[in-house]
Amino acid sequence: MKYRDIHIETQRQAPNNARTEGFSFLVRAGYLTRENIPTKLGKYTLDHLSKLSTDKSFLFHLSLPTLDNETFVPLPSSSIQVAHCLSCKYVEKLEFARFQKISLAEEEQLPLEKILTPDCHTIEALANLLDIPKKKTAKALMYTRVTDNKFIFVVVRGDMQLSEAKLKQQIGEIRPAIAEEIERSGAAAGYASPIRLKDALIVVDDLIPRSQNLVAGANEIDYHFKNTNYGRDYSAEIVADLVQARAGDACFNCGNPLSIVPVISLSTHNEYNFENILLALAETHHDDKGLTFPHPAAPFDVYLMHLPGKEMDTRAKAEEIYNSLQSADISVLFDDREERAGVKFNDADLIGCPIRVTVGEKGLKEGMVELKLRKEKENRLVPVTNIVEEIKSPVK
Ligand SMILES: [Zn+2]
Repeated sequence: MKYRDIHIETQRQAPNNARTEGFSFLVRAGYLTRENIPTKLGKYTLDHLSKLSTDKSFLFHLSLPTLDNETFVPLPSSSIQVAHCLSCKYVEKLEFARFQKISLAEEEQLPLEKILTPDCHTIEALANLLDIPKKKTAKALMYTRVTDNKFIFVVVRGDMQLSEAKLKQQIGEIRPAIAEEIERSGAAAGYASPIRLKDALIVVDDLIPRSQNLVAGANEIDYHFKNTNYGRDYSAEIVADLVQARAGDACFNCGNPLSIVPVISLSTHNEYNFENILLALAETHHDDKGLTFPHPAAPFDVYLMHLPGKEMDTRAKAEEIYNSLQSADISVLFDDREERAGVKFNDADLIGCPIRVTVGEKGLKEGMVELKLRKEKENRLVPVTNIVEEIKSPVK
């Protein structure tokens, strides 16, 4: 492939909308537009990755720091999060992650008691007023199921966060219940509990039956019940894991603490996402000058360039080398522009092919060309006649 045929346009400056260094370099090196659309070079690279993927172990060869089974790569700016266990390598999307829940110490069930709790429509305010930990309260959430308009009353412990994704797995699509629906069930927003409701599908987190004497709403403005107990005061149609894991929670498999990691996903529904793979590659393989793609991730193994000569036609020599590399099945990007050396060196660093070959007058007089590995500082001269062998050894 020749530089001019593929219309590469590199940029000196990082785009101002770059959220990550990887994206910034993909734009600067001309793989993507600022609007995140693949250019001709970008499409060529995605196609290259797609061809590599016929080998099922190809992700392994891209040297990406995947967390687990080749799906997730850490990416600080990502909005997708997973729970990850360093010990046993458990990894799961945060909203579906399981963890070992810690039950409260078992207590004898105390009698239900209605108490005045003015202006306590949050768990926070309630726990403060009664001077109790949030885990001694029951949190109520109310939804309506989309398919049949069934009123859904959800209870999780006051110190836990509901995962709507886990709830949807149990009951299907939902929307927040509106005031009218809440009132019709007999619940009072801000002071709601599942006690004595009408026509409600009650769904509770599996910690609730294991937690005695929780404070819950009395379904009356400004009042709560002390000592509500699952089984005695109410029961549920569904008891399931409904809450979201937090950093430090115990791994469901091995008990070690989970960490929460923002990630990029390399595949969805068993199909590779090549755009994300390219971004993960750029995120992983770059230095302060540009991309440093390894073989075989790089779209080209060699960046070939000539330095315009005074006496010799360096371009014609470079063209010869280009042809012999291609005949040897080495993928080459030939920078055939009549540009200053500095411009070409900068572009070579940005684009990030593993090997740079420079054809200059001085070297040619000795029958040599300059060979430099992208990841190394030093370059060396190699005989033109040996170029194919020299390149094949460091690449393969
Ligand atoms: Zn684990």
